[in-house]
Amino acid sequence: MEYYEIPMHTLVELIKAGDIDSASLRNKFLKRISQNNPSLNAFISVNENPGSENISVDSKLAGIPIAVKDNIAVKDMRLTCGSLMLENYISPYDATVISRLKRAGAVILGKTNMDEFAMGSSNEYSYFGNVVNPVDSERVPGGSSGGSASAVAAGLAPAALGSDTGGSVRQPASFCGVVGFKPSYGRLSRWGLVAFASSLDQIGFITKDVQDAIILYEICAGPDEHDNTMINESPPPIDYSFWDGKIPKIAVLSQSFSPAVDEKIKQRLRQVLDYLDAEVVEVTIPELDYAVPVYYIIAPAEASANLARYDGVRYGFRVEEVQDIMDMYFRTRSQGFGKEVKRRIMIGTFVLSAGYQEKYFGKAQKARRLFYNKLMEVFSEYDFVACPTTSTDAFKFGEKLDDPVEMYITDIFTVSANLIGAPAISIPMHRQGELPYGLQLMSAPRKDAELLSFSAITEDKLTQMR
Ligand code: GLN
Repeated sequence: MEYYEIPMHTLVELIKAGDIDSASLRNKFLKRISQNNPSLNAFISVNENPGSENISVDSKLAGIPIAVKDNIAVKDMRLTCGSLMLENYISPYDATVISRLKRAGAVILGKTNMDEFAMGSSNEYSYFGNVVNPVDSERVPGGSSGGSASAVAAGLAPAALGSDTGGSVRQPASFCGVVGFKPSYGRLSRWGLVAFASSLDQIGFITKDVQDAIILYEICAGPDEHDNTMINESPPPIDYSFWDGKIPKIAVLSQSFSPAVDEKIKQRLRQVLDYLDAEVVEVTIPELDYAVPVYYIIAPAEASANLARYDGVRYGFRVEEVQDIMDMYFRTRSQGFGKEVKRRIMIGTFVLSAGYQEKYFGKAQKARRLFYNKLMEVFSEYDFVACPTTSTDAFKFGEKLDDPVEMYITDIFTVSANLIGAPAISIPMHRQGELPYGLQLMSAPRKDAELLSFSAITEDKLTQMR
C-alpha cells in the first residue's frame, strides 16, 4: 500500500518505528497536494512549512500532518470560511482543538475548501469554487466540509477536521467513502470555530477509519474554559471491549425505507443490519418529518445574528469609496456574502422579526424540544438509532442548484443529531464498485464512547462484507 492509502494510526506507527520520518511524510503529502489539488480544489491554503522537524516521535501523533476546514482558526494562517468576506483574514490565534492537536504532535497541512460559512450540502457555494469528488469527477463531494472529505478520500491528507451543524461532516464523508464523526454537542470546544448556528455547531473528524476518529476525538475532547456551553466532565475513555458479551439494541428509522431513498441503499442497509450482532427493530418517529423544517428555521435564525459581525469594520472585506457608514455596511455585506449566505440571513431575519418570532422561531424551538423528548424516549429503550447517512449517493454538479429546498432535503437523516446534541457517525457501507454511501449510527447525547466502540465493531463487519 502507498503511504496515502494508509490510515493515520498506521502512519504514526511507521514514524515511531523509524520506518519513515515525519518531515518526509509531510513532504510527500505536500507533493501529492501540489499534483492533485488543481483538479480537486480541496485546499484553499497549504502550509508549505508546517515545521515537523522538532516534533518528538514520543508524542501521540509524532508529527502527523492534518488538514483543517477553513472555518477553524489556525494561528498565522488564513481563515476564509470559503467567503470573499474573509478572503485575506489571518487568524491571530489557534482554536482549542488546534492547540490540543499541536500539543499531541500534529502539524497543520493546510486549510480545506468549504461552502461559504458552512452553509450548503455540495460545496458548490464556496467563493473559491467547487470541490470535486475524487471518486467521480462529475459529482459533488458533499458539503459543507467537502474539501476535508475530498482531501482524505483522495489521500491528500491522512485525516481532517470538519464542522457539523446539520450534517456537514457526515454527509460529505458518506459521498466520498470515508468515516465522518460528529461528537456530542459540548464535547469539543467551539473556541476558534467560526460560528454558523451556535446551538448546533460542533467540530468533527473525517478519517480513513474509526480508530483514527477515536484517536483524534480523545486528543481534542474535554472541557475548555473558553467555551461555556461545554459538557463539564472529562469524556470517558473509549473502551474497545465495551460491547464484549453484550448485544446492542438498534432502532432503525422506518424513513430509511421510504421511496425517497435509493433502492440499492435500502437493500444494502437491510443486509448490513442483518449481519451485525445486534437486536434490530424498525421504529417510526413521525416527528422526523419536521426535522428539516425546524433546522432550516433555527440555523438561519442563529446565523443571521452570528453574521451581523461582518460589517466592514471589524473583520476582513470592506468596499472602497464609501459615502457614509450605512453605505459601507450595505455594500460590504451585499458584495462580501454569496447568494446562499444572503438567503440564510434573510430567512433568519424574517423568522426572528417582530410579529413573526413566535410563529416561526418560537414554534421551531418547541418542536425541537418535542423532538428531543421523543428521541430520548427511543434511547431509553435502544442503544443506537440507525439509518442511511444520505438517501442517495453523490449527485452531479448543478443538479440541485436551482432549487434550494431540494438541497435542504438532502439533510433529512443528519440534522436530528444536531437538533438534540447527540453524537453520530457515518461509516462507508457501499459495495465494491459502487459510488460511496454511508451507514449512520447515532446514540444518546454524551454516549460518544459507546457509539465509537460499537462503530469500530461495525466497521470490521462491513469490511468483511465488501
Ligand atoms: N447542509 C446543512 C446546511 O446547509 C448543514 C451544514 C453544516 O452542517 N454546516 O445548513
